[in-house]
Amino acid sequence: MLSADVSFPRGLSVPETKPDLDSGPTVIVPPAAYMAKTAPGSMATPRNCLEPVDSAAIKAQPKAPNYAFAFDIDGVLIRGGEVIPEAVEALRILNGENEQGIKVPYIFVTNGGGKPEEARCADLSRQLQVPVSPQQFICGHTPMREMAGTYNTVLVVGGVGEACRVVAEGYGFKDVVTPGDLMKSISSITPFRTLTEEELANSRYRDFSDVTIDAVFVFADSRHWGDDVQIIIDLLMSKNGRVGTRSETFDEGPPIFFSHNDVLWKTNHTQNRLGMGALRVMIEALFEQSTGKKLSRAVSFGKPQVGTFKYATSVLERWCKDHSGFGTSAETVYFVGDTPESDIKGTNEFDNLVDEEWYSILVKTGVYEAGTEPRHRPKATVNTVLDAVIFGMERSKIVMAPKLQEGSVSSTDEEEEEE
Ligand SMILES: [Mg+2]
Repeated sequence: MLSADVSFPRGLSVPETKPDLDSGPTVIVPPAAYMAKTAPGSMATPRNCLEPVDSAAIKAQPKAPNYAFAFDIDGVLIRGGEVIPEAVEALRILNGENEQGIKVPYIFVTNGGGKPEEARCADLSRQLQVPVSPQQFICGHTPMREMAGTYNTVLVVGGVGEACRVVAEGYGFKDVVTPGDLMKSISSITPFRTLTEEELANSRYRDFSDVTIDAVFVFADSRHWGDDVQIIIDLLMSKNGRVGTRSETFDEGPPIFFSHNDVLWKTNHTQNRLGMGALRVMIEALFEQSTGKKLSRAVSFGKPQVGTFKYATSVLERWCKDHSGFGTSAETVYFVGDTPESDIKGTNEFDNLVDEEWYSILVKTGVYEAGTEPRHRPKATVNTVLDAVIFGMERSKIVMAPKLQEGSVSSTDEEEEEE
């Protein structure tokens, strides 16, 4: 069986020690453009699209908690499109259904994407049976919003149908091209596929002879790897992003941005499935094979990049500020994830950088397979997200009901072991 850290280590293809994996060596726009200064309020997410959180009820609670939770979604709350049952109970507890009636702030930080944040939050609200606001939600491509003013014409890859074009245009990108547009306009560009009638109708014909593609953005997982890879490699090898050209030095193509770098992810299939990080591995390998040069213009966002955790901090702070019963900031943030290489690695690294405590909790409902040794060691390992919530609240001295069942947590935190 594939395992995140045994049979298919990311490091085989993309060594994690490579500086470009985490920070991106040739970022055309510095990640700082979205990291620290981004105001969550600027996320252009209409509050009235969802049921508002009952801030009056939050204000009435006796004591503001000094901690918060951040949740990964796939493999933690949702798996294969279905809600993990314990997730509903976990959020109920955080929303005040606990012994002391305390409401605890939480946000969602997913590497996934492919829909506008508002639409994804509406889905989550329905599945998790609690209102989820876009203001407590970060997905893989959220940081790309900040780059809309930097690049004029962009190729947007991934997702279902036209969804990612809609997302990109909603972010403010002025001229969005999709692989479908190129296939419709230059039918020979992908020899092994013809567009469906629906794709033909949605794709936009244009004369690409005078078009310069300034950057490539992989917003969500590719649905047609072969065609997308062909088109992306063409552009990366092009002269200044001009379709149909070839650079003599192969140093003149546009940069490529991935919304995350997860090689594997968890669906309802028995073994883990290949994700966007695998696409990056493939593109880097093919670029090197074709040009003899390493691709130095690829950058990944999402977890485990520190910038994503900085961004999450600002989102959480704003969320707490907007609901005064939550207090001004959290001294401890429990990050609950299923992927050691992104959730746990990122949380642990960020914890070492900041004053507040970021405490990594690994669940067994996703990518991580029980019995294997995760490459990045979590502070605690639990069975489900419900156990994670109860564990965190107990650790922060909130007496809980129901109690944790024996054996549902294994803590690797030295403090816990001493207690
Ligand atoms: Mg996950």
